[in-house]
Amino acid sequence: MIKISFLLLSVILLHITLNSNGQQAYTAFTGATIIDGTGNQPVTNGTLLVQHGRIIAIGKAGEVKIPQGAVVKNVQGKTIMPGIINGHGHVGESKGIDGGHYNYANIVDNLAIYARYGITSVVSLGGDKKEAEPLRAIHDSAATGRARLFIAGEIINGNNVQEALTVVDANNSMGVDIMKIRVDDQLGTSPKMPAAIYWPVIRRAHALGYKIASHLYYLEDARDLLNAGTDMLAHSVRDKPVDDAFIALLKVKKASYCPTLTRELSTFVYGDTAAFFADPFFQKEYAAAIIQPLLNPARQQQIRNSKAAITYKQQLPVALANLKKLQDNDIPIVFGTDSGVPTRFMGYFEHVEMQMMAEAGLTPIQIIVSATKNAAENLGLKGLGMLAPGNWADFLVLDANPLDDIKNTKQIAAVYVNGVEVKR
Ligand SMILES: [Zn+2]
Repeated sequence: MIKISFLLLSVILLHITLNSNGQQAYTAFTGATIIDGTGNQPVTNGTLLVQHGRIIAIGKAGEVKIPQGAVVKNVQGKTIMPGIINGHGHVGESKGIDGGHYNYANIVDNLAIYARYGITSVVSLGGDKKEAEPLRAIHDSAATGRARLFIAGEIINGNNVQEALTVVDANNSMGVDIMKIRVDDQLGTSPKMPAAIYWPVIRRAHALGYKIASHLYYLEDARDLLNAGTDMLAHSVRDKPVDDAFIALLKVKKASYCPTLTRELSTFVYGDTAAFFADPFFQKEYAAAIIQPLLNPARQQQIRNSKAAITYKQQLPVALANLKKLQDNDIPIVFGTDSGVPTRFMGYFEHVEMQMMAEAGLTPIQIIVSATKNAAENLGLKGLGMLAPGNWADFLVLDANPLDDIKNTKQIAAVYVNGVEVKR
């Protein structure tokens, strides 16, 4: 009884506090077209009400009551959408086009680059060390000036079951959000993790409460990984067209699919001078000096002649067709790029990925849902993805509507994480 009364009193006191001096903390964004990330039609002339980093209300003008004293930002003519979630990135390793820079400051730096490009959450699928743990979104330390971070820890590997399970346990002790395995022979150049190891790994990770994302290339591996219980296929199936049995299996297993098309692009695009080097949106973060080594003719020729580059380029249409077929069959597509690896330019590549998804035949709303609702729901990111009361106020204000043309995600007027504008 006493406990209940105290709770009630606390609620009343909290209410009084908010009413008396909390009102300035409200910010209302008015007049915008609002895409909420659910896949529903956008709200026109909408109001988004934010307080203390959270969304309080969203709806048509007149339906949302703007509290007295609220800061009102008129964003008429602009479009608001949820912040982009990268469901497959890597954070902390890269600086410019070089790797080997892993430390706390570089993790923060990488997350800030993502945020300035409108990527407000990143699920780092591997290569995450102890320096990343305090920065995890779960600590809610996030969130001003940088993207929220979710980590997978070390990619699980080992010569036998015991070694692999040791990595699972080490990740668990360090504190991770998800775990990741790699089942790939890198086009026949390296040994592939055998089923006899990944089945028990997936079982142990599940027993500890983690979802498993799986790196793969071949359809037959994807099939067996689904049978073994993987929650997400973290790359496209690229060797063969997906078949109906595979689609049925994805549905039965309630698994998601993350295409990472720009990963393919990155293997061959530097065989020439990439057209996007001339894009002012690219140049905002990546100076001419950074990309200089990629203009070296000898390096370009080496890439053009590389068997891997030739093969991945040749198989890209298979990845595009598979994505379209899976989308048409309502398989949850989780947006991801595999960016943050050297020469996969974090932040910028997410916008290229969206354009490649459009080339595959996805509609703008399907692409946006993959980068918002689907990513949050399938990777278990709480309070993120959709603009709804109670969720975090992570959103973009765009000068043009991405439903008209997905390229308009590049027309960024402002990025908000936790209700605070990111300095750009
Ligand atoms: Zn990756």
